[in-house]
Amino acid sequence: MIIRTGKEVRFLDEMDRQRYLAHDPEFSRIIRYWLFDAMPDSRTRPNHRVLDGGIAPMDWPGWFTCAPPLGEGCRCTLVGITGRRREALLGTGHYFDLTAGIPEGAGLDPGYVRPAHSIYNDPVR
Ligand SMILES: [Zn+2]
Repeated sequence: MIIRTGKEVRFLDEMDRQRYLAHDPEFSRIIRYWLFDAMPDSRTRPNHRVLDGGIAPMDWPGWFTCAPPLGEGCRCTLVGITGRRREALLGTGHYFDLTAGIPEGAGLDPGYVRPAHSIYNDPVR
């Protein structure tokens, strides 16, 4: 469910936010990229951490394997950014273009299946 009051949009959970940003035409005209954001602590699994700082277009097919949740209790998120922001972030050297190659070991936890309502469920399955 999405709660929208005036100019402010609130989301009840991460899936709401993803669904909204990916499908709202007004947002998607400006916010064209996802930035993968992993929690910077020791609980973050290696296959999640390697994606931290990765940027790709929202319609990049690789998100089907790289978008959170990547496992039970995954705390990773996607942040919607503009093309200008993407360029600035890539210029710092601390971020990377996911479309140039998915980091080795990245992806879903072994055996993990995303919740049925995730927009990044593999359409083939
Ligand atoms: Zn995660």
